[in-house]
Amino acid sequence: MVRAIEPGADGTVGVTVTLTTAGCPIRGHFQSAVREAVMGLEGVRAVNVSFDVMDEAQKAALRQTLGRSELPQGALAAVQNVVCVGSGKGGVGKSTLTVNLAAALAAEGKRVGVLDADVWGYSIPRMLGLGAERPLVSAERKIIPLRAGEISVISIGFFVEEDAAVVWRGPMLHKALKQFLEDVEWGALDFLLIDLPPGTGDVSMTLAQLLPQATFVIVTTPQPAAQRVARRSAEMAHKVSLEIAGVIENMAGFVTPSGERYAIFGEGGGQELADELDVPLLARVPLTMALREQSDAGLPLVAQNPDDPAAQAIRLAARGLIALAPPQRLIEHEPAGFELPMVR
Ligand code: ADP
Repeated sequence: MVRAIEPGADGTVGVTVTLTTAGCPIRGHFQSAVREAVMGLEGVRAVNVSFDVMDEAQKAALRQTLGRSELPQGALAAVQNVVCVGSGKGGVGKSTLTVNLAAALAAEGKRVGVLDADVWGYSIPRMLGLGAERPLVSAERKIIPLRAGEISVISIGFFVEEDAAVVWRGPMLHKALKQFLEDVEWGALDFLLIDLPPGTGDVSMTLAQLLPQATFVIVTTPQPAAQRVARRSAEMAHKVSLEIAGVIENMAGFVTPSGERYAIFGEGGGQELADELDVPLLARVPLTMALREQSDAGLPLVAQNPDDPAAQAIRLAARGLIALAPPQRLIEHEPAGFELPMVR
């Protein structure tokens, strides 16, 4: 949005553009497009483009102007932070990281839910060891999420026949996701992680409409081609005004048992993307056999083997998410676990 245009006497024009987030991935595009457009006008000799960022009230007004249908009052009222995990393409480890981030957040004492919105490739139930069990419905007609250890889980996979090819069209998908947010008894959560389908399609748009307060974590592999694809999902997040919390680079090198390191998928793409978006690189998660094996076995690696290098990196990312969460969104609650005997 253009905040101000100030023409000067000497043919210099100042233009202030308002961004929805400070880490806007297409800031550079605005800079050049505005300059080019204004320079094309008669009498203009120079253009100064500057930026500022909308406050919460301005963002709310914009959402209203765009006619966004938000969830009814009260739905997700007890969910403090909603984090969408997205990627430009499939197979980069988005679901693996979602379940392990959830387990890592739970290990930090946070109350966590996972919504598997990867409608075309739902793999969360398998990765969390949830088989044929189906969610129950409460007397208040709310869907009760399944539990995988401490984690509350809802997946589209719970509601369709196994291996059924479901063709989700826009309106149907919108309705299903709205229901998962509105009609599921999520209860009080510190974090709801949403595993998005790869790419920049319908699901992300729907969620952005329903959850304007959500933040976005982008998963990429280290090679430049993957980073370019990941950037597209960042651009989409920006278009729908979702704030990008950070980048996680997955499959960042492999270390053999004898200590040799191979950068199988290249090097540095995660950091480059994070720099470009001006957001933190939350972690560089190496390739480890244990991460793949534990995903297949349905038990998150971070809970089973927290010392594995991939598990350590994911725990670091989880701590980053906790640090980035606005303080007012973290409700104090009783820590789970044992009381340590105190030495007096
Ligand atoms: P996506 O959700 O992006 O499609 P998945 O999470 O399903 O990707 O991961 C694809 C495959 O790669 C899975 O078999 C998973 O176990 C494996 N995988 C993901 N990340 C790693 C890693 N860092 N080390 C080893 N295997 C990994």
